[in-house]
Parts: sequence; structure tokens; C-alpha cells
Amino acid sequence: MAAKVYFIPASVGEGERAISEKASRLFQAGGFGTCFRPNDFTAVKVHVGEEVNNTYIKAPCLQGLVDELRKRKTKPFITDTSTLYTGRRHNAIDHAVLATERGFSVSGLGIPFLAADGLFGTAETAVPIAGELQQEVSIAADIVRCQSILSVAHFTGHCATCAGATLKTLGMGCASRKGKMRQHSALKPRVKKGKCTRCGECYRHCPAGAISLDKLQAHIAADRCIGCAECVAVCRFAAVEYDWQQESAILQKSVAEHALGAVQGKQGRAVFFNFLLSMTKDCDCFDKANMPTMVQDLGIAASTDPVAVDKAAIDMVEARDGRTLSDLIGNHRLDWRHQIEHAVKIGLGRAEYERIDVS
Ligand code: SF4
Ligand code: SF4
Repeated sequence: MAAKVYFIPASVGEGERAISEKASRLFQAGGFGTCFRPNDFTAVKVHVGEEVNNTYIKAPCLQGLVDELRKRKTKPFITDTSTLYTGRRHNAIDHAVLATERGFSVSGLGIPFLAADGLFGTAETAVPIAGELQQEVSIAADIVRCQSILSVAHFTGHCATCAGATLKTLGMGCASRKGKMRQHSALKPRVKKGKCTRCGECYRHCPAGAISLDKLQAHIAADRCIGCAECVAVCRFAAVEYDWQQESAILQKSVAEHALGAVQGKQGRAVFFNFLLSMTKDCDCFDKANMPTMVQDLGIAASTDPVAVDKAAIDMVEARDGRTLSDLIGNHRLDWRHQIEHAVKIGLGRAEYERIDVS
């Protein structure tokens, strides 16, 4: 049976209040209220954007969803986990201050921001799963412990997984530091001889201090690299490469397996929203302002099936201008199908869906 994916058209130009109201309408149309019960500790998983990034989904757009949860007398909290790379989302203190500055807070949305993986990104629970790569994944402890989850993903492209949406939000975004390391360990970037101009851009951006420059080119120390792919994204000379077919496929499968761990035990108690607005070719972890969009705004999609909501979103994005997502992000060696197909294979959800348009 096909999963139901609810969709409402929206655009950033309508304003945050209108987007919030539409998200709330979608929540009601989907009957998602039944997933949340009084006194649930409900994780509202978001991405508050990096320091300079300004294309993330803004806090006021989520007010309607928070209000829906409060109507059901749950105890919702805005949450995310610490990043592997340095920056203002690297530990719970800096992350909470950034979230508060951006309105993801009691004063902004009426509920607190609480990092689900503790102060240092190490508060985790080992969740057993029936995966292909892993039989156990490391998930942020409070994601595992809370009774229900409302996942809010910003649909973007991604330089290593092609698509960044609900599966990535759950898999990478709900993993502890150890879980993130495990996923990223699939990526082993290399600098191609003869292509590197020694511009130093990768050296300046590498969050792990894994890159050095000699008289000829940049070098990556494999033992220090955390596989974040930032060097791949910032190199303008296509001098950093990895085995796109093999390594991206493994990364995407690992993301799907961690996503399975993040929602383990929450069947019927989890709802997944994809905001198809301000869709940039790189994700919100990129600390850049005014990143251009790769496709026009489409709206908001939501489902209780995390795979179907991503498949529906990708289909809508690709149908918008008749271009594949690989084409839109400018990398034809990346293929989003690995994460969707693997997620179906391990029983996380279905790729077949029925789209129900809401007005
Ligand atoms: S960004 Fe690219 S060209 Fe510049 S130093 Fe790094 S690998 Fe070389
Ligand atoms: S992937 Fe590149 S930027 Fe990231 S840690 Fe490794 S060398 Fe540094």
C-alpha cells in the first residue's frame, strides 16, 4: 500500500506567518495529531543554520506546528545535535545561544532549545537495528528517550548524499558524535595530482586541520579527516575527489541505517515535514550567506513515512524544471537513489506514495 504524503504549496515570499499557518493546516489535514499524546516529551528536530547561513527555515515558520503540539498537551522541545566540525553548533552551549538568537527558544516559539546529545555531543544510546552495514547505531540519547518526534527538514541538495531532507535530518542530525563519525568514515577524499592550484581554500575550511599545503599541492591526512566533504565543496578546481559511486553510496546507506535507529520504537509516534523552500544546492551546514536557490519554492510536504516524504519531495523538485537533482546540484556522479532504496530495503518506509494536495 502506498504511503500518504500531504502537500501544500507555499513560497518564502508569502511571509513567515503564512508559512506557519500552512504548516499547521497540513498538520491538521494529515491527521498527525494522533501521533502525539498528552505529556509526551516531543522532540522537534530542526536545523538553526550556521552562523552566516541565512537560507535555513526560520523559527517563526514553525510556530503553527509548535502550537499544534501544545494543543495536544505534549511537552515539545526544539532540538538538534552537535556538529563534528567547529562552529557555533559544535557544542550545546554555543548551539543554544545561536538557536536563541534566531528565535528557536522560549522567547521565540514558547518552547526551549535543548540539545539531544548533551553538552558535548556524547550523550548517546546504542540502538540495535537490523541493518546491512551496522547492527547497532549511536543516536542522541534524548531522541531515543522521548516518546514522539516531529522532524522538520529543509530540503536541499548535498555535496556527498545528493539530497538532504528527512532521511539526512534523522540519520545524521539525530546521531551522536560517534554516530556521525561512523557515517562520515565512508568518505575518503583525495587531492588529484596536477589539478590543485594551491589556492588554500580547502586548508582554510577544513574543520579537522587535516589539510596541509606543500610546494606543489594540498594533502589530506586520512587519520585526521572526519569525512565532512567541506573540501570537496569549496574547491573551485575540482581537485578534491572521492569515489562518488562507492563512497557516497555507503554514506547514504549508513545515513538510512542511522535514520532507522533514530525512529526505532516510535512507529505511529513520528511525523516528518520537508520544507521545499529556499532550496540551495548545499545544505544549511554551509556557513555562507545568500546561497542561490537551485529551484523555485514549492511548498511543504509531510507524512508519517520518512522515506515516502523524501521520495515525494525529490520527485516534485525534479519535475519543477524537468532537471534531475544531480543536474541541479551540478554533480552527475551523485545519485540520491542509494538512500531511498536502502531505506526501503531495511524497512524504514516505502518509496511508493499517494500525494494528497491540501489548499
Ligand atoms: S581548494 Fe582545491 S585547488 Fe585549492 S588548495 Fe585545496 S585542493 Fe588545491
Ligand atoms: S573531508 Fe576535507 S574538509 Fe572535511 S575533514 Fe576531511 S579533509 Fe577536512
